[in-house]
Amino acid sequence: MIWMKLGVFCLGVLLGSLLNNFISWWPQRETSSAGLRAVCPHCGHPWQGLETITLWGRLFAEGRCHYCGDHVPLRYILVELAAGILLVLAYSRGQGMLDVIRLSIFVLLLIPLMFIDLKHHRLPNILTLPGIALGLLLSAGLGQIKSAVLGALTGGGILFIVAVVTRGGLGMGDVKLQAMVGAFLGLRGMLVSLTIGVILGGIIGLILLALRLKGRKDMVPYGPFLITGALIVSLVIQTG
Ligand SMILES: [Zn+2]
Repeated sequence: MIWMKLGVFCLGVLLGSLLNNFISWWPQRETSSAGLRAVCPHCGHPWQGLETITLWGRLFAEGRCHYCGDHVPLRYILVELAAGILLVLAYSRGQGMLDVIRLSIFVLLLIPLMFIDLKHHRLPNILTLPGIALGLLLSAGLGQIKSAVLGALTGGGILFIVAVVTRGGLGMGDVKLQAMVGAFLGLRGMLVSLTIGVILGGIIGLILLALRLKGRKDMVPYGPFLITGALIVSLVIQTG
């Protein structure tokens, strides 16, 4: 069992290094010539073989780019670690093969959404829209299509109303993200995850204001709170 989990962790780290390529590529997708290949963020030299797994480089080499000697940014290692750990949780939590696949795909979509929203305040359609379709498809396979459709419509619907009422205080990316959460987690899971996200967002928002790290008018991306709520519901607490 422990070996299986170790194998799943390694698979997660491997997939995490691919997610890193995506996270680096997406903001410069219109100008980048490197495409989805792994390249050093400092010197642009393509990485090959084990160099693409930055966690490996951190543990067994100096954590520097082999070509320019610059340190690999912490984000690369965080993404690989997160993918490894979350995939192990998905594997432990899932009830049967298809459920494990559902949870795994869900967390592998949420990781790049989290990191891209934190840095660029965007939630790419290229992740959320196929995410909604995949969530519905996998839920249908698990016999939960009704709850998934209701979850997607309710999640997207509630946030759409908030986005309209606050006139852009919440973006359309958040609307599609919460529809995706509903498609994967069903109505009840989506509602619990939304509640956790809203509470978390309120607490962190107050702390940022109190510490004067952000002003009232500053833009704070809401996606990371919604994503944290979704991760807690899918991997930690039981809602059904
Ligand atoms: Zn380099």
